[in-house]
Amino acid sequence: MKVFKFGGASINSVERIKNVAKIISEFKNEKILIIISAMGKVTNELENVVNLFYAGDREAALEGFEKIKSLHINVYSELTGLPAESYREIGINDLFTEVEWLLHDRPVRPYDYYYDQIVCIGELLSTSIVSSYLNITGIKNNWIDVRDIFRTDDNFRDATIDWEFTQGRVTESIVPLFDQADLVITQGFIGSTDENESTTLGREGSDFTAAIFANMLDAETQTIWKDVEGVMNADPKLFPDAQFISKLSFREVIEMAYYGAQVIHPKTIKPLQNKSIPLHVRCFLKPALPGTIISDEPVTNLPPIIVLKENQVLLQLESRDFSFVEDTLIGKLHELFADARIRPNLSLNGAITLLCCLDDKPEKIEKLALAASDLFEVQVEKNCTLLTIRHYTDEIVEKLTAGRGQLLSQQNKDTVQILIRN
Ligand code: ASP
Ligand code: MG
Repeated sequence: MKVFKFGGASINSVERIKNVAKIISEFKNEKILIIISAMGKVTNELENVVNLFYAGDREAALEGFEKIKSLHINVYSELTGLPAESYREIGINDLFTEVEWLLHDRPVRPYDYYYDQIVCIGELLSTSIVSSYLNITGIKNNWIDVRDIFRTDDNFRDATIDWEFTQGRVTESIVPLFDQADLVITQGFIGSTDENESTTLGREGSDFTAAIFANMLDAETQTIWKDVEGVMNADPKLFPDAQFISKLSFREVIEMAYYGAQVIHPKTIKPLQNKSIPLHVRCFLKPALPGTIISDEPVTNLPPIIVLKENQVLLQLESRDFSFVEDTLIGKLHELFADARIRPNLSLNGAITLLCCLDDKPEKIEKLALAASDLFEVQVEKNCTLLTIRHYTDEIVEKLTAGRGQLLSQQNKDTVQILIRN
């Protein structure tokens, strides 16, 4: 058994959906659970609908939703060559009605509740359409509303999965489906409470759902199909000569994510790592390429891995009376960080000074600086970038920092971090 996840970009047009069908059709006689995101930017568009609804602008919310409806109706009819009205036969009409009813009400519950009831529709629509199209073209599959399987708490927009209940549902309801057809198509990112209210797991949550399914189904592998060849050693938009990496360890990926690389969320790694299930990152535009394989196996000889975190500030704190910056003072400072819900990305203690690099969230920084000024002389320097290089060499450090003001740095055997002035 395999688990596949296709992101929104892989199905953002009729052409692309056909491409996904072609990729799936090449895995003949393999049992695959397939998670598909909402089409293209539909999640963002649904978020707009929620905002309009919650601001009390019912007309605009309904109008926005109407556009989302037409998009799906048109894609379905173009994809299948069936008349526009035929979408009524695949259940997506019920999904439309579900949202429209809600939009006609006045908001009386918290924003996050409505967010989840409305935004979850994106994945339900896309998967219904793709599943139906595959069945029409002879690629037999069963479609599942994951809200019947994935039980969560009611922490809307950031719901936590009830692992035990969900495992039970997977075993009793998903596993037997594979006796009927090799493919099961379902959604990521969404779930439901014990009162049948929809929930979401946080943006970009589909990879995480796929990993949970892989874990619960004891899958042999999970594959995330993206629009890039695989994992690169740097962001190719910033570093045109970025290199493709064919193999990585779970450990390395967790380190990369910790330093700010937008590779794969550490949450996604855990369920796979716990059962030693390799994760493949492959390109849906070039399915002949092998992609990156991430697994338990340690990998040596990695190229330098470069992560840039923009929008950093340097906070310089100096004790007011030249007394040493000692434990109590540092303890108080950490309390301030915790209160502001901000964590330094890098920090360095001196005798009477303390340097911290933080994400520039202006409101938080202002509050923090003000609070810290009771204890310290405070200076804030904005417009900095935090450069992290794993598996660094002197040459690469030299190349990336030449001629740039270095404000703070720290290094150990595998990793160097340097805060530079823009
Ligand atoms: N559609 C959701 C999002 O765009 C979930 C996902 O694709 O992972 O955040
Ligand atoms: Mg995505």
